[in-house]
Parts: sequence; structure tokens; C-alpha cells
Amino acid sequence: MKTIAVANQKGGCGKTTTSVNLSAALAKKGYRVLIIDLDPQAHATLGLGAIPEHQSRTVYDTLRGDPVPFSTIIIRTVIQGLDIAPSNILLSGTEAELSKLNNREYTLDGQLKTISHNYDYCVIDCSPSLSVLTLNALVAAKGVVIPVQTHYYAIEGLRQLMETIDIVRERFNPGLNIAGVLLTFVDPKTRLSRDVQRQLREHFNELIFDTVIHRNVRLAEAPSAGESVITYDVNSKGAVEYLALADEVTNGKAKRWTA
Ligand code: ADP
Ligand code: MG
Repeated sequence: MKTIAVANQKGGCGKTTTSVNLSAALAKKGYRVLIIDLDPQAHATLGLGAIPEHQSRTVYDTLRGDPVPFSTIIIRTVIQGLDIAPSNILLSGTEAELSKLNNREYTLDGQLKTISHNYDYCVIDCSPSLSVLTLNALVAAKGVVIPVQTHYYAIEGLRQLMETIDIVRERFNPGLNIAGVLLTFVDPKTRLSRDVQRQLREHFNELIFDTVIHRNVRLAEAPSAGESVITYDVNSKGAVEYLALADEVTNGKAKRWTA
């Protein structure tokens, strides 16, 4: 199982949209995929049609003291090949629970080892912070996908995240790579979006995915139907672009994955 953390400490840059639709796109291509909702806001859970408050067990129960086995929290989605480890607001208590444990950075990693034979890919939707939860995701992951909205503060935020990734690599997870930086909310009509895209490519060149995600209303509509865009409107620009991203992730622009 290849684990991909979708992370950026900034909110609203497209992490959940990317996690849900990349997972759905990978499943559509025939891979066995697990998406983990690691955000107490539970938007990925909701966006795939599950009701967070109705879940009797969530990721929280696998990370607390006296944890349950990870396999017991996984549920099917309507998408063939895509399962989800759901979240709800209780996950916000994990910080306190984990701080009591030894090896708290490795808790999720240890749990995932018990189910890794069941999946080809695991995609982790992180919360907008560099919390101990996000740290657990980075320690468990082989690659990080970093969605970045094309605006002027993007470069500073990205530098900070890259420093964090370097620290995680040194201290906890030498195998961690940047799978790629994904430009989101791209709007070819605005000069800002064009300028920032050019700047990002100059600074981070080969780390940027060839695929970019344009602003697309279908991507914003699909979650309210409890669906990925791949099932909601497979011909939409958003669906086509996330399917292309899945190709780029799997065909290994491998220099990044194996670096
Ligand atoms: P994050 O998880 O980083 O906070 P989200 O994926 O939830 O960000 O995206 C924030 C909001 O923007 C959501 O309402 C989502 O539906 C919408 N959105 C995300 N990507 C796009 C896009 N490419 N075009 C239009 N709306 C988008
Ligand atoms: Mg989110």
C-alpha cells in the first residue's frame, strides 16, 4: 500500500476536494483505495455520503488510549474499490489523547500496517494545521500531495510546509517524499493566477504536477450530493483533471517518489 498524505496548513486550498477526487479517480482506474479522514471537520466523510455523527467508530478510536483495530472502523463507499476511515468532531480530542502516549508520532503508522495488504493506495485528508494529527499522517506516508491555491501568499506557506516535511524526514520518516505540488483554483482569465503559477513553477519547478486543477463549479457542487466529482459528473473539467492527476500519481513521475 502506498500512502499519500494530502497536506497544507492553510485551509480552503483544496485538500479535501483533492483527497476525495484523487481517491475516487484511483478507484475508477481499478486500484483498491482507502481514504482516511484525518480532519475533525469530517468534510471528506460527508463528501462521500456518510454522516459523521452516525459513525459509531471513527479514526479517533484507533488513535486513543486502548485503541480499536483499524480494520473495524473502515466502511464501504458507493464507489467500487473505495473504502473510507471516517472522522467526526471527536477527532479533535486526539491531540490530548496522543500526548499521553509514547511514540505518539507513529500511532497511525502502526495502525495502517495492520491493513496495508488490503489496499493499493491510501489517501489521508489532513486538517489545516501542523498538529500532531498531521504529523502522524506525514510519518505514515510515502508521498505528500500539496494542494496550493494560486494566490500571492502561496509561496511563503509552501516554504513553511516544506521545512516541516524536511524535519519529519530527518526525525521520523526518511522515506517521505513530496509526490507533488498541485495548483488548485487555477483561473486562466485572471492575471494573478497566471503570475502566481509562473512564480511557483520558477521556485519549485519539477515538484509541481503537470496537471493543474481549474476553478470548476462541479467540484464545489459534488460534496453537497455526497459524491465525488467522478461519479457526479464524469465529463466535467474537474473530473477529467483529477483523473489526469491519478495518472500522474500512479505512473510515477517516479523521480519524486523514489528520490
Ligand atoms: P480544504 O480541505 O483545503 O480546506 P476544500 O477542498 O474543502 O479545501 O475546498 C474549499 C472549498 O472550495 C470547498 O467548498 C470546495 O468545494 C471548493 N473547491 C475546492 N476546489 C475547487 C475548485 N477547483 N473549483 C471550485 N471550487 C473548489
Ligand atoms: Mg478539508
